[in-house]
Amino acid sequence: MTAHTILDRPWDGFDAYLFDIDGTLLHCSDAVHYFAFCDALKALSGNPLTLEGVTAHGNTDVGILRDALALAGVADAEWRPRVIEIRTRMCRFVETRKDELCAAALPCVREVLAHLEGQDATLGIVTGNLKDIGRMKLQHAGLLDYFNVFGWSDDFEYRVDVFRSAVEQIRAAMPLSARICAVGDTPADVLAARANGLPVIAVATGVYSREQLLTEEPDLCLESFEELFRAA
Ligand SMILES: [Mg+2]
Repeated sequence: MTAHTILDRPWDGFDAYLFDIDGTLLHCSDAVHYFAFCDALKALSGNPLTLEGVTAHGNTDVGILRDALALAGVADAEWRPRVIEIRTRMCRFVETRKDELCAAALPCVREVLAHLEGQDATLGIVTGNLKDIGRMKLQHAGLLDYFNVFGWSDDFEYRVDVFRSAVEQIRAAMPLSARICAVGDTPADVLAARANGLPVIAVATGVYSREQLLTEEPDLCLESFEELFRAA
């Protein structure tokens, strides 16, 4: 199981791990979160807008709104004063439809988390999701209880800052020598990990292929977590 090494240690040899949610831990086959964006964009712009032309994967929830509004020509000054109200609106939108959520853990995710938990690793989340929405997805997929560090995007528009906040939480609770590894499914995860000095495992279970992820040179690049459990 330890055939895959990352830097100077096996993949399961780190003190702490920060996992992205969508495309890394789980896949949502519903469109509840998507329609929450559409609802928020209509409230902010007065017009029906979609996420067409916006890079959602690897972005943050507020970053997605920002990019969609910029594409529609809505000035920053028109929507930024309402950002707290809109974050709340998005979370409420998902909350009232949480029975429609269809979030399923990706292959071998439970095995990876249980294995790392057995190694006494600290498990954390780094996500572009707003807190309430991310928690509902993790809960729905039965994964929430594995985690005790959370980097949500509520206070951050850029992924690099979400990562920094999660790293700071771990650093505050663990020895300075603790080694942290990031795990994500997008080039943006690789870049945000790098910017925070973290090694990163990329997994091609989201919308990006292994070949696309390899162009950002993650420290380890997997088709899926199943690779970690194949006989060496
Ligand atoms: Mg993702």
